[in-house]
Amino acid sequence: MADFEAASLPDLLPLYYRRVFPFGPYGRWLRYGDVSKNYFQRREFSFTLRDDIYVRYQSFNSPQELEKEIQKMCPYKIDIGAVYSHRPIQHNTVHMGAFQAQEKELVFDIDMTDYDDVRRCCSSAEICPKCWTLMTIAIRIIDRALVEDFGIKHRLWVYSGRRGVHCWVCDDSVRKWSSALRSAAVEYLTVVKGGEETVKKVTLPSNIHPFISESIDVLTLYFEEYALVGQDILGSKDSYEKVLALVPETVRVDLLQEFSKRKQDSLQRWALLKQKLAKNKTPHVASEIMLQYCFPRLDINVSKGINHLLKSPFSVHPKTGRISVPIDLKNLDEFDPFAVPTISRLCHELDTIRSDDGNRKENEGETEGSRKSRDYRKTSLAPYVKVFEQFLEEIENSHRGERLNASDMQLEF
Ligand SMILES: [Zn+2]
Repeated sequence: MADFEAASLPDLLPLYYRRVFPFGPYGRWLRYGDVSKNYFQRREFSFTLRDDIYVRYQSFNSPQELEKEIQKMCPYKIDIGAVYSHRPIQHNTVHMGAFQAQEKELVFDIDMTDYDDVRRCCSSAEICPKCWTLMTIAIRIIDRALVEDFGIKHRLWVYSGRRGVHCWVCDDSVRKWSSALRSAAVEYLTVVKGGEETVKKVTLPSNIHPFISESIDVLTLYFEEYALVGQDILGSKDSYEKVLALVPETVRVDLLQEFSKRKQDSLQRWALLKQKLAKNKTPHVASEIMLQYCFPRLDINVSKGINHLLKSPFSVHPKTGRISVPIDLKNLDEFDPFAVPTISRLCHELDTIRSDDGNRKENEGETEGSRKSRDYRKTSLAPYVKVFEQFLEEIENSHRGERLNASDMQLEF
């Protein structure tokens, strides 16, 4: 990361939290229109401070108090936890066992390191535009299922700041889901099974579930360009042997011969492979390969625990300096993790604003708050805050709808 030095964080964070972090919309989000008593006050935040000092069970009376505390502590990382039965800050003072996590967004965590056995361009924490397609595919597949199969409305997809994405499912009913329900949802969305020692991780039944066939339709849009051209999964001996380990033995022996005999590219080899599988009356094996190479790999533990913490949107990634920004699903294919602003860039942009403004005094009837909101609007964070605000408006519109319905009912009875 050329433009970011972790050592500069102590200088940059105060500026970022004072002038850029979008506290206004952030507070509106976590209040959820004050759905139930002390909802915001019972939410756990946790801060990672300098030297990995980790402070859990923080809670605040209001978004304004949270803002002040964040500006004071300047956390390297902010995590959001559950809404508890009591204020998390008082968790030591309530009776043992009475302090319970009650609600939280259903969250998904998709991390590129879980794809290391199927990507050839990078490994571990590295990402590049080639393998980023895996995240695009993951978002398309999971988001379609959330909307069409689960009837979910409010999803916020966020770039983690380094090598993955998070999803926050925020519908009122879903935030109340038990851990068992959350596990069941992840189970439904899981197709690739088995650890490192499992060679064949996807085996389809003869009767393919609509979720799988819908997912394969999404995959088909990307597979050729991503896996065959980009990753060239049939290009070299090492790589095609791994693919052929997933096909029935008769086809495998045949194709190993063909592939070593003739110099062909991955596209030609894939066509041949599909042809042989069809002849062998096992055409579904091609889908199994596609799923094993590209289907989203979810971290079940993050999703199932109500009290599990997840990095907050707009938090900084302490290693890369990149901001955890919302992803615009309408332009998902154009989302570029390398174009996401770093904290250094944003602070630099603030300097430019300051010199643009010249000697203009801050006494032109502006309140502190309006100046602050203008600041992030003038930086390259602005388009991402806009995506966040659109997501918020949809949540607020559905609350408004419910309130109108409720007042209609009162008129009727
Ligand atoms: Zn890569």
